[in-house]
Amino acid sequence: MREVFSCKRCGHCCHGESTVSISRPEQEAIASFLGLDLTDFLKKFCIKKGNRVEMKVVDGHCIFYGDDGLCKIHKVKPFQCRRWPLHPSILNDPMAWEAIKADCPGFDPKATYEEVCELVKRANSGY
Ligand code: SF4
Ligand code: SF4
Repeated sequence: MREVFSCKRCGHCCHGESTVSISRPEQEAIASFLGLDLTDFLKKFCIKKGNRVEMKVVDGHCIFYGDDGLCKIHKVKPFQCRRWPLHPSILNDPMAWEAIKADCPGFDPKATYEEVCELVKRANSGY
C-alpha cells in the first residue's frame, strides 16, 4: 500500500510564534525527564497564556527544537506534537486538510482526502 504520510523531519511544525498547550501531566512528565521540579521547569521552559501553558519560543522555534532538527524531549513530547499532523479536524473539514497539507511536506502530494481520513482515524483510534 502506498505511503500517505512520512515525516520529512523538516522541523516546520516546531517553528512559529507559539507552541502547543501542555497539560499538567505533560508538564510533570517533561519536568521529570529533564530532572527538574515542576516550578523550575515552568519558569525555565514555559509561558502562561491565560489558562494555558505553552512551551517557550526561542529564535522562532520551540525551545525544545534541537540544532540537529530533532526534538530534545522526543520520548515525552506533548500529545499534540505526537499526533501532528494527523489532527481529527481533518475528518470534519476538507479545508482543514488543505491547510495542514500546505504546512507539512510529509504528505504524499497525490494523497486523496479519503486516504488521509483513513490514516487520521487509525492514528487517533489509540487515544
Ligand atoms: S512539518 Fe510535517 S514533515 Fe515537517 S517535521 Fe512536521 S510533521 Fe514532519
Ligand atoms: S516539543 Fe518537540 S515536537 Fe513539540 S514543538 Fe517542541 S520541538 Fe517540536
